[in-house]
Amino acid sequence: MKNLNMNILVTDGMEKDAIEFLINQGFNVEEKFYPEEELGKKLQNVDVLVVRSATKVRADIIDEAVKGNRLKMIIRGGVGLDNIDCEYARAKGIEVRNTPGASSDAVAELVIGQLIVLARFINMANLTMREGRWEKKAYKGVEIAGKTLGLIGFGRIARSVANKAKLLGMNIIYNDLPGCVVDDTDDYKCVTLDELYKNADFITMHVPLTKETKYMIDKDAINKMKDGVYLLNCARGGVINECDLLDALNEDKVAGAAIDVYEKEPTPNMDLLNHPKVSPTPHIGASTHEAQKRIGTEITEIILGKCDKLGMNLRQAL
Ligand code: NAD
Repeated sequence: MKNLNMNILVTDGMEKDAIEFLINQGFNVEEKFYPEEELGKKLQNVDVLVVRSATKVRADIIDEAVKGNRLKMIIRGGVGLDNIDCEYARAKGIEVRNTPGASSDAVAELVIGQLIVLARFINMANLTMREGRWEKKAYKGVEIAGKTLGLIGFGRIARSVANKAKLLGMNIIYNDLPGCVVDDTDDYKCVTLDELYKNADFITMHVPLTKETKYMIDKDAINKMKDGVYLLNCARGGVINECDLLDALNEDKVAGAAIDVYEKEPTPNMDLLNHPKVSPTPHIGASTHEAQKRIGTEITEIILGKCDKLGMNLRQAL
C-alpha cells in the first residue's frame, strides 16, 4: 500500500470504519486528544485536523500551526463551528469544513424524546423509582398533542423536529432571521420572537452560537414567555443564560428544561444539572451509530475531495 505522506490528526474521535478506510488508502491517521498548549506545535506536522466539539482551535493555535506550513484543512465532524476561529483559519489559507446534514435527525430525535420526558417527568420518575420511591401521584404530566411548539432557528435540525412534532399533534411556530423564512408549507408559522414567547408551550433552541445569539434567552426573554413554559436546548451552551434559567426554574416560571449543551463542557453548572425539573444529557445530540457513520463517511469524502483539489489524483491511484 502506498504511503501518501498525508498526516491526519483526529482529536475528538471518529467512526472506526472511516479511520480504517483512510488508513487503508495510505493516509497516516493519529487518533489522540492534545491539550491546547500542545496542539499548535503538533499541527505543524499535520495536513488535516479532524475535530468534534471538545477541541478548541483558536487563533493562537492556528498561528503556531502555520509555522509548519503544512496544515491545509480543519474538519469539524458535526455542525457547530463555534469551537474553531474559522475566519482566522481561512485568512491563513486553511480550509474549514463541517458535516452539516449528517446529524440532523439524531439531534431532532433527542429533542422529541426530551419533549416527552419533560411533559411526563420521566427523568424524575426514573430517578426516584431507583431510590425505592413509588411516587405515582407526583407525576401527573401534560400531553404534547395540541400544544404549541416554538422553534428558535429554523434550519436543518429544527425542520426535522417540526416534521416529527407535527405528526405527534403539535402546533408549530418558529422564528428565524429575515430571509430564512420557509415557504414550503403552511403548517409552520413564522412569527416574531415576542409572538413565539407569548404563544409557545414548549420552546426549543436551534440557532448556532454567535455574538448575536449568545444569551438570547435571558431573564427578559423568559419573562415574556408563558408561565409554566418548557425550554429545550440541544443547540449550544451559551444561547441560554444558565443562571437566569436556574432562577426561572426555582420561581416556577419555567416548568422544565431539557439541556444537552452547556456553557462549560465537560464541567457544567451542577446546580442546574441537579435541579429536579431539568433533564440533562452530556452533549449527545449527534451520538447515534447512524449519525456517526454518516459523519465518518462525509469526512472521508471531504478529505478525498481535498486530495483531488491538490491534484493528487488519488481516486485513480487507489
Ligand atoms: P442550520 O444552519 O441548518 O440552522 C440554524 C438556523 O438558525 C438557520 O436557519 C439560521 O438562519 C438561524 N439563526 C441564526 N441566527 C439566528 C437568530 N439570531 N435568530 C433566529 N434564527 C437564527 O443548523 P442546524 O444543522 O439546524 O444546527 C443548529 C445548531 O445545532 C448548530 O449550530 C449546532 O450548534 C447545534 N447542534 C448541536 C448538536 C448536539 O450534539 N447537541 C448536534 C448538531 C448541531
